[in-house]
Amino acid sequence: MQHFNQIIHAWYRHNKRDLPWRQTTDPYKIWLSEIILQQTRIEQGTSYFVRFAETFPTIKHLANASEEEVLKLWQGLGYYTRARNLHATAKKISTEMNGLFPNTYEDIKKLRGIGDYTAAAIASIAFGLPHAAVDGNVYRVLSRYFGIQAPIDSASGKKEFKQLAQELISEMPPHIHNQAMMEFGALQCVPAPDCPACPLNGSCYALTKNMVAQLPVKQNKPKVRNRYFNYLVLLTNESTYLSRRTQKDIWLGLYEFPLIETSSRSDVCHIVESDEFRNFVNPEHVILGDISNWETHPLSHQRIHYRFIKFAVGKESGISETLIRTNKKDIFNFAVPRLIETFINDNIWE
Ligand code: SF4
Repeated sequence: MQHFNQIIHAWYRHNKRDLPWRQTTDPYKIWLSEIILQQTRIEQGTSYFVRFAETFPTIKHLANASEEEVLKLWQGLGYYTRARNLHATAKKISTEMNGLFPNTYEDIKKLRGIGDYTAAAIASIAFGLPHAAVDGNVYRVLSRYFGIQAPIDSASGKKEFKQLAQELISEMPPHIHNQAMMEFGALQCVPAPDCPACPLNGSCYALTKNMVAQLPVKQNKPKVRNRYFNYLVLLTNESTYLSRRTQKDIWLGLYEFPLIETSSRSDVCHIVESDEFRNFVNPEHVILGDISNWETHPLSHQRIHYRFIKFAVGKESGISETLIRTNKKDIFNFAVPRLIETFINDNIWE
């Protein structure tokens, strides 16, 4: 273990990236970076971190923002529950904890949106507490180097990895150790690694046993659900119409064009003749325009097949009052899912 730690730490000193959240021990900023980087690549997450830290320099600033502002700034990052949890937690800290971020692992873990990994990362990096943070990168490094074949998505596997990670951190300064482990997994021991260039290649279990591609082990492959979204783009000369997602589903709180979800790539005639369509608009007051090709937007457990169907609106009186009328120019002020953002950037002015 000592040999492993020494090599990882020496490697980290020479190879660590200069990232903006590495220049602070402010728990708010560390928390912000950890939430942004969940499910997000560093290259994409860095600019979001900088924007959030500039727009909301303290927990209080974030707590005082509206949900619309937070979601708008988050737009494009995906997994919007993270943004809503971030906002709710900032409010709680601001109003119930005097604006002070909790300073123990146990109290940090009680906050909404913070699990074991994030609590350990904040506790170690901001407060120097010896809690091992085990993320996907760390699972990969540990399983390969130490030859652990317990599935990383099983309760017993998680326990085994956590125990080993905890033993390793006990010998080292926690804030450096956790970051060194994660960075090593992110840059060196990647899914398809360059093992000949690795400083651990003389003692790595997976390399010796020719098991690099097999480790870490996962027992469950997530099932992917296919969904079919038909967006109705209702256009007048100046305006279009949006609706807000209010159901417990993906993209809660974001805006989109009126949506008809179907069970397959259904024909436009069926869409226009459906009751859902009539609930949005009187078919006699609109003229069918361009129909985009189907595209696919992958999410972690869903594959969204989507297309946009344009309609020229003759009489606005036939449009449902549940829809939000917006001037085309103002549409950019709404927080929208990425696929809508791409569409409005490319199409709305045509
Ligand atoms: S030798 Fe290869 S598999 Fe082993 S720790 Fe290094 S990069 Fe990972």
